[in-house]
Amino acid sequence: SDHGSSGRRFMLKLSGEAFAGGGGLGVDPDVVHKVAREIAAVVRDGAQIAVVIGGGNFFRGAELQQRGMDRARSDYMGMLGTVMNCLALQDFLEKEGIDSRVQTAITMGQVAEPYIPLRAVRHLEKGRVVIFGAGMGMPYFSTDTTAAQRALEIHAEALLMGKNGVDGVYDSDPKKNADAVKFDALEYTEVISRGLKVADATAITLCMDNKLPILVFELLAEGNIARAVRGEKIGTLVSD
Ligand code: UDP
Repeated sequence: SDHGSSGRRFMLKLSGEAFAGGGGLGVDPDVVHKVAREIAAVVRDGAQIAVVIGGGNFFRGAELQQRGMDRARSDYMGMLGTVMNCLALQDFLEKEGIDSRVQTAITMGQVAEPYIPLRAVRHLEKGRVVIFGAGMGMPYFSTDTTAAQRALEIHAEALLMGKNGVDGVYDSDPKKNADAVKFDALEYTEVISRGLKVADATAITLCMDNKLPILVFELLAEGNIARAVRGEKIGTLVSD
């Protein structure tokens, strides 16, 4: 069936934290299953989906650094954590009958292909989901920045950022402030000048410089990935 998404290409950034479910750490297969089901549905509708998953459910480099570890080494631990999320998603996509490939920025031939952009595009054209792991392969970067960079390199039309427990961008933290107001739309410059927590500054400026729209939405609300792909008015849209 064609709901207007056929052949259109999107980058989906998934919160690593969401993968942990209620536990906070590691991977909750029930959550991954749910996300895989939703991705499978949009792929069956003809959309091309590339995925970057965060790693906050395992390690964050900055947090390990605060506890005395070398930043670069802890960032590598963070990147390796994202690969476990990728493999979990690949497994549940396979169970949904959807082909996928994991491509990592750090070579690990037994579990994933290396990052090869042109090959990634070929996979997408064949209806395979491509899951990019190990971030940029470089310390001091984030998976948000990775999602923006990969989105640009594979010519995705938008960066769909699925968040954990928040349905868009607010003027203050809605978990701490009952009066927090949600934005339906924002300009990149507002995100930066107001210091809004959409993604890190590197990711935002990369999107701004290249006019890549960002949709911030609640990942785990049923049907939201399909809504995001269809361009329905959910979450917060960041653009020019
Ligand atoms: N990371 C990195 N380079 C990258 C991507 C990720 O060093 O290109 C590391 C970094 O330590 C980060 C961790 O991997 O904290 C997990 O990635 P994520 O972006 O999910 O961090 P979070 O947003 O959860 O802090």
